[in-house]
Formats: sequence, C-alpha cells, structure tokens
Amino acid sequence: AAVPDPADVDKYLVEKLLAPEPEMAKARERAHAAGLPHIEVSEVQGKFLMLLAQIAGARRVLEIGTLGGYSTTWLARGVGPDGHVTTCEYEPLHARVAADNLAACGVEDRVDIRIGAALDTLDALLAEGGEPFDLVFIDADKENNGHYIDLAIALGRSGSVIVVDNVVREGAVLRPGDPLSEAGRMVNGVRQGIDVLGSNPRLDATALQTVGAKGWDGFALAVVR
Ligand code: SAM
Repeated sequence: AAVPDPADVDKYLVEKLLAPEPEMAKARERAHAAGLPHIEVSEVQGKFLMLLAQIAGARRVLEIGTLGGYSTTWLARGVGPDGHVTTCEYEPLHARVAADNLAACGVEDRVDIRIGAALDTLDALLAEGGEPFDLVFIDADKENNGHYIDLAIALGRSGSVIVVDNVVREGAVLRPGDPLSEAGRMVNGVRQGIDVLGSNPRLDATALQTVGAKGWDGFALAVVR
C-alpha cells in the first residue's frame, strides 16, 4: 500500500480532535487573501500551543513573529480571558491583518501587537520591567533565534516555557548553511539557537521532529531553571 501523505493524516486528526473554528478558518483566508505568506503554524500545531499555554498555567505570553495572528489567536485562547499576549511583528501589513483577525476571533482585548524589529521590542520590554512572561513562542527571523532565546530567559522566570518553531527544516539543521543564501543563514540561526538551548545552564531543553501539513520540521521546548 502507498505510504499515506502526512498532510492527509493532519486532516484526519483535525477532523477527529479539533472543533470546527469558522472564524479562525476565515482569519487564515483573510491573511492569504492579503498576500501574507502561508507560513503560519498548522491547525494541530496551533491547538498544541494553546494546550501548552494551558498546561503551563500561562497568563502572560510573549510571541515573536505574529504574521496574520493565527498562532497568536491560539495562544490568546490558551491564556484565557484574564491572560495577556504580547506579540512582535515588524511588517505593518502583517500587524494590520493580525489586528483584524484577532478582533474577528474575539481575542483582541487580550493581545498587544508591538510593531517593530523584535530585538528592539524585547529591549523595550526589558526596560519597562513588567511582570515576567510565563511562555515565549519564538517564530520569526531564525537568524536571531539565539538572541531571542537569551532575551526570553531575561524576560521570563524560573519555570517559564520557551518554544522555538522550525528547528529541523527538512533535516537541513544537521549541517551549517551557506551564509551567502537566506536559507543558509536561517539554518545557521536555528543551529545557534539550539546551541544556546543546549549550553545555557538556565535552560533544560529538548526538541521533537514533526511531519504533517507543513512537511518535515520540528520545534524545541525548554524550561527556564
Ligand atoms: N507565528 C505565526 C503563526 O504561526 O501564525 C507565523 C509567524 S511567521 C513564520 C514570521 C513573522 O515574523 C513574519 O510575519 C515576519 O514579518 C515576522 N518577522 C520577521 N523578522 C522579524 C523581526 N526581526 N522582528 C519582528 N518580526 C519579524
């Protein structure tokens, strides 16, 4: 028998495990119609993030990389009506589409979209000295993953959860990338991030490879000691 397509398996899992979410489906369509790239997390991954936020009892979530607000909406649902999500995005169009989508999904009151380069936003958050974040989801320019992980520790507390998306990249993570190509620089950023996860004594980390609607990839998970 032919090997099943992992994307079909994702469809099956969505049908069996996820309630229909018409507003969230429309939000994804709105993002695609506005020309945003189709690089948001998949449905099963989005719900996974929501459940992770719930398991961690997260009330304050930081997201790096908003796009059209799809993962943001799942995280906002995970923190509940009394929780809060701060999400970083440097493309004004993405931020506008995300704001519309968050409103359509009824979670705009608990999300703050910070427009600008995420490194600057994270520095500003440090300077503001607010309450620590309980969970940080890193899903933006992979070149800065190492910096984002260091800043996530600084903005977190003992017990904070850090999730880093796209750490396998169809296996490309195994070898250094070509610094002259964007894909290569992304791989190198991912590898730097994994080095930080493995070597920073304040972190306890693992990573899982995944297949599904988004091909062969994976995410890293860490807890701040
Ligand atoms: N987390 C989103 C989801 O799953 O729905 C997907 C995020 S997408 C993979 C990455 C986003 O990060 C893009 O919207 C991109 O514009 C944004 N981005 C890239 N580099 C950035 C930076 N230096 N600062 C802020 N945002 C950045």
